[in-house]
Amino acid sequence: MDLRKLNKRAFIKNSCLAAGAAFMAPELWKSPAAAEKLWKWSKEALYYIQTPRGSKCLLCPAECTLREGETGICRNRVNVNGKLFSIAYGNPCAVHVDPIEKKPLFHFQPSSWSFSIATAGCNLACLNCQNWTISQVGPKETRNADLMPDAVVKESRANNCKSISYTYSEPVTFYEYVFDTSRVAHDNKLKNVFISNGYIEEEPLKALCKHLDAANINLKSFSDSIYLKLNGGKLQPVLNTLKTIKDCGTWLEITNLVVPGWTDDLEMIKKMCGWLAENGFQDNPLHFLRFQPLYKLEHLPPTPVAVLESARETAMKEGIHYVYIGNVPGSKGQNTYCPDCHKEIITRDGFRIDANHIKNGKCSYCGSSIAGRWT
Ligand code: SF4
Repeated sequence: MDLRKLNKRAFIKNSCLAAGAAFMAPELWKSPAAAEKLWKWSKEALYYIQTPRGSKCLLCPAECTLREGETGICRNRVNVNGKLFSIAYGNPCAVHVDPIEKKPLFHFQPSSWSFSIATAGCNLACLNCQNWTISQVGPKETRNADLMPDAVVKESRANNCKSISYTYSEPVTFYEYVFDTSRVAHDNKLKNVFISNGYIEEEPLKALCKHLDAANINLKSFSDSIYLKLNGGKLQPVLNTLKTIKDCGTWLEITNLVVPGWTDDLEMIKKMCGWLAENGFQDNPLHFLRFQPLYKLEHLPPTPVAVLESARETAMKEGIHYVYIGNVPGSKGQNTYCPDCHKEIITRDGFRIDANHIKNGKCSYCGSSIAGRWT
């Protein structure tokens, strides 16, 4: 099947999903009533230890300790016979071919196609989740493909993709599948792209970074209390992830969704950008995305464009060189400007590139280097 021919409606229909699957609080999901069994797509987890209280997962800061039969907060890790298993290995519920710009990655292999996969499950519970029908359910509730790592690579090549993206839901939670697929991808000269909430422990992240070429990490706010209420997580582990990915040399872009009444405070945005600049992220593109009313925040309006423009100006004043506005058709904030001569060097229309004035990684007007992985 040529996956590029699926429109958004068909994609959602083909990608998912258990009709009517409802959000469940993590505590409920962890109850023994949710006892799980292994199936064809189970694989022993790479990061866990045994404790007197059960198997403790060491993959993400949620730190689940699971008794026999229990499932983790992410809904795809289960304790069976004292061992921890992922039940999301080789069974993606979303498979699609996307422009790399959709991730969003604007400074990485522009205009290329990326083979994009996701399984069910997520380790956060964002009230504004745009993929809740796959992120807030378990792998046994979605309609899945049978696509082991070799098959993912084969399909990627058949669809003329330069990379594989682990995306849509939360790839941290299908870590073993990402890890094995990314190794096979590199053996076949395909790049690996990680689109994540960054909620992962340092050791597994470092191991995975050896096989990652690019990442976009969603920094959801710069407030621990907002992280807790809006996303069900903590801020510091995500900041740690940004530093680790940068130190590993993986190309990094950052996304911040501006949610009215939650994450649109310009003082907080200023602090976030100040932290990014102080910690050496000036050349890592920052994408401010427009919120659309979804899931549990359907009652809120979309982010006003003026707020996004103010956030962009604030970030640039704080010293971030490449700042974008996403989900606003026609915005000047979707283009790339040279930080030195300020000329428009990439003109975009949505995910399409209309003009590119970067040659060999340099601005073709003034010759300055433009940060990114351009080939
Ligand atoms: S990966 Fe899943 S099971 Fe492991 S700690 Fe995170 S939420 Fe819990």
